[in-house]
Amino acid sequence: MPPTPRRLGAGPCTEAVPAGRGPAAPPTRSPRPRRGVTVRRGGRSSSPYDAFNLGGHVGDDPDDVAANRARLARELRVDPAALVWMDQVHGTDVVVVDGPQTGPPPQADALVTATPGLVLCVLVADCVPVLLADPVAGVVAAVHAGREGVRQGVVPAALAAMARLGSRPGDVQALLGPAVCGADYEVPRAMQVQVARVAKDAAVTSRTGTPALDLRAGLTQVLRAGGVGQVVQDPRCTVEDRRLFSHRRDGVTGRQAGVVWLEA
Ligand SMILES: [Zn+2]
Repeated sequence: MPPTPRRLGAGPCTEAVPAGRGPAAPPTRSPRPRRGVTVRRGGRSSSPYDAFNLGGHVGDDPDDVAANRARLARELRVDPAALVWMDQVHGTDVVVVDGPQTGPPPQADALVTATPGLVLCVLVADCVPVLLADPVAGVVAAVHAGREGVRQGVVPAALAAMARLGSRPGDVQALLGPAVCGADYEVPRAMQVQVARVAKDAAVTSRTGTPALDLRAGLTQVLRAGGVGQVVQDPRCTVEDRRLFSHRRDGVTGRQAGVVWLEA
C-alpha cells in the first residue's frame, strides 16, 4: 500500500487530503507514513483566527492555540508532546528530529525524521506545505515552501537530509497541500523571473493577465528533477476556499497545518 493520508478522526477540525495514486510500494516492514492537512473549522480561536488556528506567531490567544494543538493531537491519536513544530523563516535550514521537542521550536523551514510517532507540522496560509514520505526507508519530511523557499531550494535541501537517513528519491512520495493558486498569486515581473530561474513552470499568468507564480507547478518540476517518484497535488486554493486560512485574502489570520508522521 502506498502511504495514504489518514482519515483524521471523526471530529470536524480536519479532513483527509486526496489520496496519492501510484504503484504499490514493495513489501516493507518500515512504519507506514501518514499525512494530512487541517482546515479552519472545529477549533477554539476567535476572529480573525477562527477557528482551528495552529500558528503561535500570528497574534492569537496562546491558550486558544494550545487548545487547538491539543485537539490536533487527539484527532491524530498521538501524545501532544509528539507534535514537532518549527519557527519558519523562509529559508532552507533543515532540522532532523529524533525525539519529542523540548524548548522553543528551531528556526527552520523543513523537519525530517526517521523516528516513528513524531508528527512533523508545517504551518501555512498560502505557502505550500510539502509533505514527503519514503515508505521504503521509513523517512518523512514536512517542508514550508513559499516563494522564497522555492527560489532558495528548501525542497532539495529536505531531500538531501532524507537521503542522509537512507532515503532514495525514487521511493519518495510528495504531497503538495493547499496553497495560493497561480491565478491568484500576482507578483512583480522581476520576482517572477527570479523564481522561474529555479523552476520555469512556476511562471504563469494571473486571472487578470499579469505575471504570477504557481508555486506548486514549480515545486512539481523541482521534485521531478530531484528524482522523486510520485508527486500529488491537493488542488485546493487557499485564497478561493474559505474553509482554509489565507494570508493573501485576509491579512491577519490563522494558520492551518500540514502533518506527516510514521505510524508508531
Ligand atoms: Zn486561486
